[in-house]
Amino acid sequence: MDLLSDLTPEQRAAVTHIDGPLLVLAGAGSGKTRVITRRVARLLDSGIAPENILAITFTNKAAGEMRERIEALAPGSRVWVGTFHGFCARLLRSYARLVGIEPGFTIYDQADRLRAVKDVLEQLAGDEARVTPERVESAISRAKNDLVTPQALRRRARDEDEGLTAKAYAAYEEKLRACSAVDFDDLLVHVVRILKENPDVRASLDGRYRYVLVDEYQDTNLAQYAIVRALSVDHPNLCVTGDPDQSIYGWRGANLSNILEFEHDYPGCRVVKLERNYRSTKNILSAADQLIRHNRDRKPKSLLTENPQGAPVNLTILARETDEAEAVAAKIAGLVREGEYNYSDVAVFCRMTALTRPIEQALRSARIPYQIVGGVSFYERQEVKDILSYLGLMANPKDDLAFARVVNVPARGLGKTSLDHLVKAARDRGLPLLAMARQADQAEGLKDKAVRGFRDFARLVDELRALCDHPAEEVIRQVLERTNYPDYLKANSDDKGEDRLANLDELVSAAHEFELEHPESQVHDFLADITLASPIDRWDEQTGAVTLMTLHAAKGLEFPVVFIVALEEGLLPHSRANNNDKELEEERRLLFVGITRARRELYLSRSRIRTFRGQQQATFPSRFLDELPLDEMEMNDRSGISDPQYPPPRGNGSGSWTRRPDAYPAPRSSPGGFRLTTAAQLSGSGGGPASPADLDALRPGVTVIHPE
Ligand code: ATP
Ligand code: MG
Repeated sequence: MDLLSDLTPEQRAAVTHIDGPLLVLAGAGSGKTRVITRRVARLLDSGIAPENILAITFTNKAAGEMRERIEALAPGSRVWVGTFHGFCARLLRSYARLVGIEPGFTIYDQADRLRAVKDVLEQLAGDEARVTPERVESAISRAKNDLVTPQALRRRARDEDEGLTAKAYAAYEEKLRACSAVDFDDLLVHVVRILKENPDVRASLDGRYRYVLVDEYQDTNLAQYAIVRALSVDHPNLCVTGDPDQSIYGWRGANLSNILEFEHDYPGCRVVKLERNYRSTKNILSAADQLIRHNRDRKPKSLLTENPQGAPVNLTILARETDEAEAVAAKIAGLVREGEYNYSDVAVFCRMTALTRPIEQALRSARIPYQIVGGVSFYERQEVKDILSYLGLMANPKDDLAFARVVNVPARGLGKTSLDHLVKAARDRGLPLLAMARQADQAEGLKDKAVRGFRDFARLVDELRALCDHPAEEVIRQVLERTNYPDYLKANSDDKGEDRLANLDELVSAAHEFELEHPESQVHDFLADITLASPIDRWDEQTGAVTLMTLHAAKGLEFPVVFIVALEEGLLPHSRANNNDKELEEERRLLFVGITRARRELYLSRSRIRTFRGQQQATFPSRFLDELPLDEMEMNDRSGISDPQYPPPRGNGSGSWTRRPDAYPAPRSSPGGFRLTTAAQLSGSGGGPASPADLDALRPGVTVIHPE
C-alpha cells in the first residue's frame, strides 16, 4: 500500500520526517492519529528496526487499532505500541529491583487503592479522621503525578488535615511495599526514578527506543513528560501530536505546558501544523469553533473543512430527563429506520456515568441495542473481582488486600473479629497475612475454629499456588472448582445469579483469548493486562449497538451521529468548576471534544427538571449553550413549559439565554457537587414534585426559547 498518496502535503511532511524532534500541532479531526500510524509504517519502510520504535497512545483501544493498522501496513513487525501505563508496567517487570520492588509485583486498581487508603487512615486516625479516604486518595495520586514524595508533601502541609494526608501517603507507600504492590501512578513514578537514578539503564533504553511517538501529547502529566524526555536525549527522534484545545485531563495532573513548551525543550524541532478537518461538517465545526473561542487561555486557531455544510446542529429542550431520554431514543430509532445509519453509527455522550441511567432505560424500552462504556467495569464486578483476587494472592502471596478480600469468600466462618486478630499478629511480626495464616495457631486471641479456618485457607492457596505457571484459563477453572465458588454464588445471589455465573464464564473466555494472544504468559501477565485495561478497551465497534459513554472516554474517537445530553449548569460545566476559570475552560474543552467527535449530525439536549442522585431539581441551561451559534442551529423547545413573565428575545441567537451562575451554591467540598434547590423546596409545597410551570415562574433568571 502506498503510505503517502492519500495524505495532504502537511501530513506527508510529518510522515516522511525521520530524524530529529517533530511537533504536530493541529486541531480536532485533522489527521494527527493518522499521521502517527503512517509514520510508524514509514519508519519501518525506511529500514528502521521495529524494536527501535515506541508508539504511545492514550488508550489500549487506540493502541490496538494502531497495532492492526501497522500489521496491515508492515505485517509481523514487533513495534511496541501501547499506553504509557502498559509500557511502564513492562519496563518495571525488568527493572523492579532497581527501585526495591519484586518483579512479581501486583498492580492495584482504583478500588484496591481506595481500600488501602481506607485501611491506613483507619490505622492512623481511627474514626477521628476529618478527611475522607477519597480526598486522601486523590491527593496522593496528584502528588505522585507531580513527582512529589511523602516527605515533600509533609513539609508543605499547612494544617492538620494536610498533615494527616501526608502521613497517610507515607503509610500507604509503606503498605504497598509490604504487599509488593504498585498502583497506576507508581508505574510511571517508579520508571521515572529508574531512568533518573540509573544513567546506564536510561542510555540503553534511549538507544533501544530510538524513535518515540506520542499521540495526544496535550494530556501528558509531569511523570509522562519526564519518561519521554529521558528516552530522547541521545536520540531525540521524538514525534508528538496534540491539540491544546482538547486537553481534558488537567484534573488528573496533565500539564498543557508540556506541549506548549515542546519547541523550547527540543530546540531545532520541526513543527507541522495541520489546518484542515476531515471529520465533521461545516455546521458541526462552526459550533465547535464558536464555543472554544470563549476560552481566553488559548492560541487562536480556526477549524476549516472542505466537507459539506451538513444538517444544522440541533438543540432540544425537554421537560424532564425521562422525556429527554425518550426523545433521544426516538430520534435514534427514526434515523436508523430511515436507513442511512446503523445503531453503531450513533453515540450518546454525557458528563458523568450517573447520567446514563435514564438513557439506558429509554433505549431498552425502545428495544435499541446499546453498549455502555465506563460505569462499573466488567472486571470490577464482585464475582469477577473475587476470582481475580484468588489469582492475585496466588501470584503474589504478600498481597494482603487480596487475602482480606477472599479469606471468607466463600464463607469459612472467618469473620471480622478473627481477621482483626490475624492482622494484628501479622503486623507485630512483620509478616504478610497469608504467612500468618499458615501459623495461625501462634496468633493471640484466635479461637480454635478460626485457627483451623485460616490454616485450611492457607493450605488451599498454597496448593493453588503450585498451578501458577499454568495457563490462566486452567488456573481460573481450578480456583472455581476448588473453592466451590459457583455453588456459593448460586446460594447467595438474588435474581442476578444467572448473570453472575455468566460473568464467570466470560472471565474464563477472557483468559482463553489472552492465552491465544500471549502464548508464553503467566497468571501475573493476565492480571496486569486486566488491571491496565480501561473501560474503553471493552468497547466493540462491531456489535451493531449504540454507544453510551462519558465525554472523557470519547477522546480520539469519531461517530457519524452524536448526541450530547444534560447540557445543564452543575453538570456541564460541572459544579466543581464554578468558581475557577481554569477548570471552567477545561469543561469547555470537554464539550468541544464531544462536539468534534461528530461527523455528520449533532444533537444537543437538556431538560428543565432533572432527578439526579435521588433529588428532583430545577435546572439551569449550561452557560456553554450561550456560546454556540444559536442562530445557525435548529432549536426545539418541547418541554411544554414557557415563562410568560419573561418573553425571550426572538431571532437573536446569542442573547436568548440568561443565567445567574451565582444562584447555584456548589461548595467545592460537596462530593456530588450538583446541589441545586430541590423542586419541592422551590415550589414551597414542602413535598411532592412541583409542576413545571411553578418551577419556571420561580426562576425568573432563566428565559425560554420558544419554538418558531
Ligand atoms: P482528534 O484530534 O480527534 O484525535 P485527529 O487529528 O487524530 O483527531 P484523525 O482521527 O487522524 O484526526 O483523522 C480524523 C478523520 O479524518 C479520520 O476519519 C481520518 O481517516 C480522516 N482523514 C485524516 N486525514 C485525511 C486525508 N488526508 N484525507 C482523507 N481523510 C483523512
Ligand atoms: Mg487523534
